[in-house]
Amino acid sequence: MDATNNEVAVRDVPLLDLKRLDPELEAELQDAFTRVLKSGYFILGPEVEALEEACASYCGAEHAIGVSSGTDALLVALMALGIGAGDEVICPSFTFFATAGCISRTGARPVFVDVLETSFNCDPEDIERKITSRTKAIIPVHLYGRCADMDPILELAGRHGIHVIEDAAQAIGAEYNGRRAGSMGELGCFSFFPTKNLGACGDGGLVTCNDAELAEKIRVLRVHGGSPKYHHGVIGGNFRLDALQAALIRPRLRRLDASSLRRAENAAAYTSLLEAAGLASGPNPPLRLPEASPSRHIYNQYTLRCEDGATREALREFLAANTVASEIYYPIPLHLQGCFSSLGGEKGDLPISEKLAGEVLSIPIFGELEEEEVRYVADRVEAFFKES
Ligand SMILES: *Cc1c(COP(=O)(O)O)cnc(C)c1O
Repeated sequence: MDATNNEVAVRDVPLLDLKRLDPELEAELQDAFTRVLKSGYFILGPEVEALEEACASYCGAEHAIGVSSGTDALLVALMALGIGAGDEVICPSFTFFATAGCISRTGARPVFVDVLETSFNCDPEDIERKITSRTKAIIPVHLYGRCADMDPILELAGRHGIHVIEDAAQAIGAEYNGRRAGSMGELGCFSFFPTKNLGACGDGGLVTCNDAELAEKIRVLRVHGGSPKYHHGVIGGNFRLDALQAALIRPRLRRLDASSLRRAENAAAYTSLLEAAGLASGPNPPLRLPEASPSRHIYNQYTLRCEDGATREALREFLAANTVASEIYYPIPLHLQGCFSSLGGEKGDLPISEKLAGEVLSIPIFGELEEEEVRYVADRVEAFFKES
């Protein structure tokens, strides 16, 4: 199909369109809504328990605790491990803000490490360099739906007696050497924010773990530390998940593998189209494509890299003018964020994170994209480089 035909067929390619609901799913969501409305049971309860059971089994973890958001999953995980003032927690600089924001909120100090260009994830060698006697935990992030290199991280953590909390907010169902995201560290944190592969119709999150005692601690922290009710041995928060969100997530969980597979197919199509266009080969290619992952990648994002920030901005504008949405995840590495300036981070400290922040551009990848939309997006990316 040539560009002209594509332009006629495709009007507007959003980054994500949550209104594209298959009718069967829509009917199940309507049923779930009605069921919860009629039950009169709106917070925690049997709907949340059913979701927890299904997610534990899906993630290959023994326990799962539904919480109010991915952010709260991280916060309550850190609280359950007793992390606070005087402690250091290592996390990548190239991630969503919540990863580090939660560390600071416990009173601990985020210690930022660089990432690898090939995977966008934590560089285990940089982690090793930044471990001190105050390091209590490492939070590897499985960015864009691809697992971090967990074996060396787990080995380091074991050797130094440090906790590992997986930030799997973008990675439900992703795998690393046959193990699922959220089943490898002591705790796994997930988000049901609507843009994630498994989204709610609002906020929601989940913590997974394999330790019954830790799971119980999180359940108690989830309700202000009350156990039994109105007896507070510890200070928790309101980290409860709504029954309605739990009920609305389950029909999507049943379709998650199919939907993540469609994302991977879209990714494979982009890769083959952009490679065939000659944009990603040679010594100095104008475009770098996400590297194939050795294990199951769930493509929460498909992220291109341009040569520099100016090219990325021009590509972004060109795509917008051609009705293709794109987004920069994330434009500023966390060690350079204003709120962390007191930690002393400076430009040049984490060169790969800084470089990626200037180069990355994510293009539409969601499961409901039509094949012709994928071809159109690839065609417009090609047109940008051939015409400019
Ligand atoms: C989305 C996300 C979070 C936070 O999840 P919310 O549900 O939005 O609070 C944390 N970490 C990463 C890497 C995320 O992508």
